[in-house]
Amino acid sequence: MFNTVIIGGGAAGLFCGANLEVDTCLILESGKKIGSKILISGGGMCNITNMDSSEIFLKKFGNKKQENFLKPAILNFPTRETINWFEKNGLKLIPREDGKVFPETEKAQSVIDIMQRKIAQKGYIIKYNTKATKVIKNGELFYIKCGEEEFKCKNLVIATGGKSFPETGSDGSGYNLAKDLGHSIITPEPALTSIKIVDYKFKEISGNSVKKSLVDFYHKNEEKRYLQACGDLLFTHQGLSGPVIINNSRFVNSGDTLKFSLIETTNKEETRQTLNTIFNSKEKKTIKRVLKDLNISNSIIDRFSEILDFDKGLFLGNLSKNIKSKIITSLLEFPVTVNSKIGFNGAMVTCGGVGLEEINRKTMESGKIENLYFAGEIIDYDGDTGGYNIQAAFSTAMIAAQSISRK
Ligand SMILES: Cc1cc2nc3c(=O)[nH]c(=O)nc-3n(C[C@H](O)[C@H](O)[C@H](O)COP(=O)(O)OP(=O)(O)OC[C@H]3O[C@@H](n4cnc5c(N)ncnc54)[C@H](O)[C@@H]3O)c2cc1C
Repeated sequence: MFNTVIIGGGAAGLFCGANLEVDTCLILESGKKIGSKILISGGGMCNITNMDSSEIFLKKFGNKKQENFLKPAILNFPTRETINWFEKNGLKLIPREDGKVFPETEKAQSVIDIMQRKIAQKGYIIKYNTKATKVIKNGELFYIKCGEEEFKCKNLVIATGGKSFPETGSDGSGYNLAKDLGHSIITPEPALTSIKIVDYKFKEISGNSVKKSLVDFYHKNEEKRYLQACGDLLFTHQGLSGPVIINNSRFVNSGDTLKFSLIETTNKEETRQTLNTIFNSKEKKTIKRVLKDLNISNSIIDRFSEILDFDKGLFLGNLSKNIKSKIITSLLEFPVTVNSKIGFNGAMVTCGGVGLEEINRKTMESGKIENLYFAGEIIDYDGDTGGYNIQAAFSTAMIAAQSISRK
């Protein structure tokens, strides 16, 4: 019999265990190691948090409801606290110019090691290869079934993550545990994902990117765009990726049209006027030179001229009005149709999960079952790339740990 059982040894479960102040705690992990998703985060270096102010930080989540839900947790344990916590425990975290924060070691394993050491110091147990398959509450106690084994506890934390990258252990089985206990689950969908494009024309230049592309998003058969976003855009083998695509993929459906710029801009109409002036000037420049001066890479210029079928060696004065207008429009709003998102296997996070209105946002305790808590990505929130998701896992875990410890 344990005071607390935590199901899931990921960012949320480990941080909760590392901050609990109770006499006994057991962490159940279905995999043969803990923190498998942390290990692949930030390209193996773990972009652990972000220097944005808490106000801006909260805006990086799916919608206003998520922002409101996470507010007490983030204000209670913001970025600065994460930096202090790890530093106090022996790992320096370094903010980069773009606001992303990484461990000094640039190794995700060090983040796991610190939490694991803290858990061991408290005498808590981590049980590997132990998947929770059923949970019931009888009287004051929870009974957790893991195959043939059964564990009992007074407080239960479900921190089983979402459904993305299932090979890391987050296979969605946690949703069934929450359902067993009477919670409703908002249908999980892949989020933070690249997208596949119909009749994709940029395969040849996959790996190339456009800095600060301005992308307009349109639903199928609708003329009014539903979103405009600016950020780096990456060409992949099958479609588009990069922060501007990944961070907004939660809104994208199959059949949507995306119109992206191949040059940096924040205002397409203003840039169109600038381009009109450039393209109609009397300067003796080849079209290739003009495009290079607009900071477009050689590979993109080559492919762009093939797609639009113009000779990039021609001088501006020799281009027809028609082709100039076609080039300008395509530079500003190259249209593509979304085939599909890359599925859960390629999504960095899951949107959907345990409904926010069923959890007390100040304690992470279930509104349905006393002494049941949730932490991390199993909850229906999803943040942008940039360290927001791991910080949210830590902040929700911390508030759950504090609530349990106070009892
Ligand atoms: C490729 C990739 C890169 C990423 N990079 C970043 C980044 O740099 N910065 C950032 O902020 N976020 C990043 N993320 C997202 C971030 O890693 C997650 O949001 C975060 O790890 C979620 O933590 P969690 O503890 O809620 O879930 P998880 O880390 O998924 O942990 C859940 C744990 O529960 C275990 N488990 C599941 N079901 C059961 C069960 N039934 N019984 C027992 N154990 C179970 C799993 O094995 C797993 O260990 C990245 C994600 C991916 C996929």
